[in-house]
Amino acid sequence: MNDRLPKILAIDDTPANLLTLCKALGDEFDLQIATSGASGLAQAIESPPDLILLDVMMPDMDGYETCRRLLDCPMTRDIPIIFITAQNSTEDEALGLETGAVDFISKPVNPPVLRARVHTHLALKQMADQLRSMALVDGLTGIANRQRLDEALESAWRACLRSGSPLALAMIDIDHFKCMNDTYGHQAGDTCLMAVASTLKALMGRPHDLVARYGGEEFLCLFPSTDRVGAQAKAEELRQAVQALRIPNEGANAALVVTVSIGVAATTPTAEMTPYQLLAIADRQLYEAKRTGRNRIC
Ligand code: GH3
Ligand code: MG
Ligand code: MG
Repeated sequence: MNDRLPKILAIDDTPANLLTLCKALGDEFDLQIATSGASGLAQAIESPPDLILLDVMMPDMDGYETCRRLLDCPMTRDIPIIFITAQNSTEDEALGLETGAVDFISKPVNPPVLRARVHTHLALKQMADQLRSMALVDGLTGIANRQRLDEALESAWRACLRSGSPLALAMIDIDHFKCMNDTYGHQAGDTCLMAVASTLKALMGRPHDLVARYGGEEFLCLFPSTDRVGAQAKAEELRQAVQALRIPNEGANAALVVTVSIGVAATTPTAEMTPYQLLAIADRQLYEAKRTGRNRIC
């Protein structure tokens, strides 16, 4: 949410109710309005708000149905929904909460209560967002972790399968890293991992390119819409960039600095193949790069 005002979408078919909400919320929020379930849904997908205030009784699509659809849609499923309704039986409240709303407020709306609950749910949402993004980031290097990579790989695979475009992977492993730890200590090893990670990340040129920490001193790059020749050129650029960091690793090899070996694999996805087969090829190529002398690409 940063510096901008939290964005709230109010969906209610009665303009007078929207006006009441507008007054109650004051100028602490960026309030957007929609006067039907369908237009609210479209607006929420187009420009997702931080929280939704949803009327229950509406013609055509009622609040419960709107809520279900919001929770079904990947773009909107994590947005908290508060029902605002004139029906205040415990059954209605239970139904609202069972449908997946985070809270239920009865009309007439009491402005301080509304503001307090909105603040509470915005704070919870912010924490949940933070946890969700932390779960996909590697703690040491700050780049994507393996979980994130696996998700991105599957979705890139599906996208390339649909569009008939190639997909390339580069599996990168630091050469003689054990020797680096043994010679300079674990702390220096960690610093080296951070430097290599940020160097690789800085070279991810296209919006859907991704580099992740795949294991201890192993990184994996995902290059959608890239063929083998393109991926090989990119891998060579990565290899040179790591060597150019000139991080000492004396016991390692002729270069006396940290180097990487890279296994590249590319294919045009077919329904018969899985992305994990492509991973296995990159892994084999990496092994080959190690076997034939390290600090190289296969
Ligand atoms: P090769 O050239 O064949 O890849 O040799 P290597 O020494 O790099 O490979 P090996 O797999 O034998 O050793 C990897 C080392 O990476 C061992 C492990 O202690 C170290 N390592 C793994 N994760 C971390 C980490 O988070 N921090 C540090 N400092 N070291 C790590
Ligand atoms: Mg290694
Ligand atoms: Mg390794």
